[in-house]
Amino acid sequence: MQFGKIGVLIMPEEKKKMTSLAEKNDIKVTILPRIGVSETKSEPETILAYQMMGNDPNGNTCPFLDTTSSKRSPHGGYACKIYENRPLACRAYPVIQSSPVGLDPKCKFCENCGTPSGNVNSELESLVLIQKKMDTNAPCIWRYATGIGEPQDKDLIKTGWFLV
Ligand code: SF4
Repeated sequence: MQFGKIGVLIMPEEKKKMTSLAEKNDIKVTILPRIGVSETKSEPETILAYQMMGNDPNGNTCPFLDTTSSKRSPHGGYACKIYENRPLACRAYPVIQSSPVGLDPKCKFCENCGTPSGNVNSELESLVLIQKKMDTNAPCIWRYATGIGEPQDKDLIKTGWFLV
């Protein structure tokens, strides 16, 4: 909780695309760093991943979620305005663990599915790709505290880089 709400994982090479998709859709996005690495303990030298924060003050609701139209996803939830161009992390979801394959227990769709079947291959590929991209030998790993969360936790949530 002290690091705040985590946003949608964005790979460095996806950041520009997300910003330009937001502009095209007339949407405001906040993309903060997520994980940084460095050789020394002074400051992060390279950012391995970013995070796109939700619209609400408590960090919920992805800015690309279409909450105003009547469009619905095949699972019945709100539709994604950039579905064909959604980030790698969204392509991986609900697979959150590759070996053994594990699904996010909070995924409402998965609540009804139970254990993963053979049809999560493309999600798994995306997850493995993320893991490869985030693999590092750097001695120092940094995490960015977003400062965003529930109003009652406001005073507890930090902002900025922290060495983990
Ligand atoms: S699938 Fe779309 S709406 Fe859902 S988190 Fe990803 S970008 Fe946002």
